[in-house]
Amino acid sequence: MALVVQKYGGSSLVDAAAVLRVAERVAEAQRGGDRVVAVVSAMGKTTDDLIALAHRVSEEPDPRELDVLLSTGELQSCALVAMALRAHGRDAVSLNGAQAGIRTDTRYGNARIAVIEPERVTRELTRGRIVVVAGFQGSTEEMDVTTLGRGASDLSAVALAARLGADRCDVYTDVDGIYTADPNLVPEARRLSEIGFEEMLEMASHGAKMNPRSVEFAMVYNVPIRVASSLVDGPGTLIHQEANMQKEIGEIRDRVRGIATEADVAMIAVQGLEDRPGIAAHLFEPLADSDLSVDVIVQNAGADGFSNIGFTVARKDLGRARGVAETAARELGARGVVSNDRLAKVSIVGTGMQNEPGYASRVFRALADAGVNIEMVSTSEIRITCVVSEAQLGEAARALHAAFELDQQG
Ligand code: ASP
Ligand code: MG
Repeated sequence: MALVVQKYGGSSLVDAAAVLRVAERVAEAQRGGDRVVAVVSAMGKTTDDLIALAHRVSEEPDPRELDVLLSTGELQSCALVAMALRAHGRDAVSLNGAQAGIRTDTRYGNARIAVIEPERVTRELTRGRIVVVAGFQGSTEEMDVTTLGRGASDLSAVALAARLGADRCDVYTDVDGIYTADPNLVPEARRLSEIGFEEMLEMASHGAKMNPRSVEFAMVYNVPIRVASSLVDGPGTLIHQEANMQKEIGEIRDRVRGIATEADVAMIAVQGLEDRPGIAAHLFEPLADSDLSVDVIVQNAGADGFSNIGFTVARKDLGRARGVAETAARELGARGVVSNDRLAKVSIVGTGMQNEPGYASRVFRALADAGVNIEMVSTSEIRITCVVSEAQLGEAARALHAAFELDQQG
């Protein structure tokens, strides 16, 4: 008898009919005798609506109260799914985050899971019940409600699967798996049958839809996740620790797994900085102190004792980041600050690239042939990222998808 954790996203729970369909699928999972925990997100756009509602009441909603409010979205879903299951003669029980034993710190809106006390869940499973858990939420030691960050019902599911030692963790959504690229930008994109945790992490933090913290958690605790559609049956995509065949047999072969894209990128460049130790620290420390996360950073080779430092931030942070950078630039006697808010990032992602020359040049050639100008470049062991103009993001993604023959791999 296996233990299965299933997660259903908000797009699979848009209305009452969808709730009934989800309940049917959950019941189906139990039919074979398996024990089932279903973790659910808020219905459709409920979380967005609740956030908007809060902002109509308060310019800056109190974080603790906002979490109480947001948690109600998932409560609706779990009550409704449990209700639907019971209406179909299934013994089911809904549990909120606290009841499911998800204990967190007090970082409202982005709380971290401290520990999971799974006794209640285990007890209900032993009674033969289907346990429907409200995703995205936990509780502090004081029993205050917290939420785990946008999209974090995935995290609730993965964390429960890890803690319960589940045999499977299936994440159901409105697409049938993880794609080699965003199909809206690249029509030739195809579903991957599998992808490694690290690669998925790069895909997740660069555009594809899967909560990055949940992938990180799954990697640390080695929980394989299957991402599949809740609407059509299919194999989906297995995210897991892949055995690296190449390493074992020493073969070198194309291993670009996908193209990750991200729009809404802005760039700030501080020009004419003195080229001496401490300058970068002076510029980036106040950005960190203001909780601004900086992504691609480029410092050009200094000439005549001066250099320029450019970095990207999320477009929504541009105003704030530019203010902080201007203050630092003034203090440092820099020549000036310029910015561009119409940028995007496009990356190739794959574990076969380290120690293998030629990937960067192929990226540059493909973008050159497509007439795409590269603003900045950054690389990691498993990723090469180019910052390009947002208007050319689609062209860039299609060019790289074709150059690395991602439409053809099996
Ligand atoms: N409902 C929450 C959100 O929209 C959590 C989730 O969907 O996973 O961010
Ligand atoms: Mg969601």
